[in-house]
Amino acid sequence: PSMTRGVTKEVSEVSWDDIGGLTDLKKKLKQAVEWPIKHADAFARLGITPVRGVLLHGPPGCSKTTLAKAAAHAAQASFFSLSGAELYSKYVGEGEALLRRTFQKARLAAPSIIFFDEADAIAPKRGQGGSSGGNPTIGERLLSTLLTEMDGLEQATGIMVLAATNRPQAIDAALMRPGRFDLVLHVPPPDQVGRTEILQIHTRKMRLGKDVDLSRIAACTDLFTGADLEGLCREAGMVALREDISAESVSDHHFQAALDSLKPSLTESQVQ
Ligand code: ATP
Repeated sequence: PSMTRGVTKEVSEVSWDDIGGLTDLKKKLKQAVEWPIKHADAFARLGITPVRGVLLHGPPGCSKTTLAKAAAHAAQASFFSLSGAELYSKYVGEGEALLRRTFQKARLAAPSIIFFDEADAIAPKRGQGGSSGGNPTIGERLLSTLLTEMDGLEQATGIMVLAATNRPQAIDAALMRPGRFDLVLHVPPPDQVGRTEILQIHTRKMRLGKDVDLSRIAACTDLFTGADLEGLCREAGMVALREDISAESVSDHHFQAALDSLKPSLTESQVQ
């Protein structure tokens, strides 16, 4: 990725196949994000206005960022990513300038996807812990800049805005109006089938022993996120190496030992 004063631009290498589970969600994102960029002519022919923004919400470590990158890769769009928390922490005025600059760069590099992580930090509910009638708070100023930029995106510029949050209730209703984030998608924690696929993905390059049964491991990793499962695979490999630095493969007992030493990130209330 190339860093230009706080904005990260990259050509994403992540594909839809690198994301386990979430079959329906991937289909929805393909149609909402990839199609308008790849088949702009078809949308124009039928007079369909594509969504301009998609809000992804769900617990941390369950692939919101990866989904945005995969959409960019599939659409062969430039990928710009910004962190809400980082914008929020800047000096007064700097965050807004960075936002405007990002939209400007995205226009020049179109087709583009702009991804906001921790979007609730940029777009807190207005008035919440906010100004008392005086100057707008940093959050309010960032929010109004974002709204102005999104409203200014002309149709068929090939720019799509994706945002991610763990706290959708903290997002200002103004962001959900038509022409802004008009598609809101929940990214749930992986179910057992999803976990099996995630384990398959993250062991693709590992040499596994014949006794390793990934679906059985998936069955006993109930509250694990995708990121946790990725960590589990790495840890199993490390256990094997610690046992014997010239190990030839990673076996079931290495996975079991890794499981004993790792705790899942999710709580029961997050998987309901
Ligand atoms: P956060 O809210 O913390 O930013 P996130 O929801 O954006 O989290 P990602 O950053 O996309 O999550 O995921 C973290 C890592 O976990 C990724 O690098 C990816 O390798 C792995 N991961 C998560 N979900 C999946 C999945 N469904 N399939 C494959 N890998 C996954």
